[in-house]
Amino acid sequence: NLCKYFPVYSQGFVRKEISKIKAVDQVSFDLMPGETLGLVGESGSGKTTCARSILRALRPTSGEVIMNLPDGRRLDLAQLSNKALKPLRQQMQMIFQDPYASLNPRMTVGDIVAEPMKIHGLAKGSELDDRVERILGKVGLKPEHRHRYPHAFSGGQRQRVGIARALIMNPSLVVADEAVSALDVSVQAQVINLLGDLQEEFGLTYIFVAHDLSVVRHLCDKVAVMYAGRIVEMASSAALFEDPKHPYTRSLLSAVPYPDPDITMEFELGGEVADAGNLPSGCSFHPRCKDCFEPCDQRTPQLETMPDGAQVACHLCSQANVSK
Ligand code: SF4
Repeated sequence: NLCKYFPVYSQGFVRKEISKIKAVDQVSFDLMPGETLGLVGESGSGKTTCARSILRALRPTSGEVIMNLPDGRRLDLAQLSNKALKPLRQQMQMIFQDPYASLNPRMTVGDIVAEPMKIHGLAKGSELDDRVERILGKVGLKPEHRHRYPHAFSGGQRQRVGIARALIMNPSLVVADEAVSALDVSVQAQVINLLGDLQEEFGLTYIFVAHDLSVVRHLCDKVAVMYAGRIVEMASSAALFEDPKHPYTRSLLSAVPYPDPDITMEFELGGEVADAGNLPSGCSFHPRCKDCFEPCDQRTPQLETMPDGAQVACHLCSQANVSK
């Protein structure tokens, strides 16, 4: 039930809260060690805010983010003080979207990758240098690259630096926020393969935020599709691609290019993503849904588990489920 709302204030001398933007609304899922969850949706669907709330880069408005530690402790990250959170931050790292903006141009690659270790006081001197060189090697860069500045690297290489900066802390959870969106398709494939290899080697757990379903297909065990701050469908990656149930998921899939010139795909999704500050009544997707019927603009559908285990929030699926 994770929620992150942003207040909207009136203009003028006396600023009053007039509404709330429900960027993340009652989102629930679990993630086991070594799993990869894809969080997908259009821009403005709440996926990045959700991921940042989990990492406590943003403080959630309500709800819990439970982390089960190997020593048996069960911590709610949403409630912890910054001081209590600091040692846990080593275990949760983020890879950012824009490899051009996320690296400080005044720092060498070696200093960028070493910085988190210094902040947490985990290593220094030759031990830190060795560790930086080792992690650069793991992401396909050379030891001598540590003396260069980010501008000397291509987009794909910069993203490798971002990955090295996240992995040097030996994290258990890595959030990749649109980590390949800014890259060329061929470089995307290389970085996705690299992330897969690193997951196998280090036993990483990923939350992979993306707007492109074709990207999550190869990396994710399960996928949560978000629309207007809520999860509208969640299923294993195989099930979601083989049998998408929610009309929004089907529309997103219709936007995935198919590499066959004889196949013409009809893109089904029209209109704009719902305004999180002024959501439509009932199902937030109803103004864009071609399957919209009588209760859709009045009642908000809740996530329901279908016979095959997929969870879907849609009156149409719910009706079909009941009549089975
Ligand atoms: Fe479409 Fe209705 Fe389902 Fe919403 S609840 S996705 S409007 S069919």
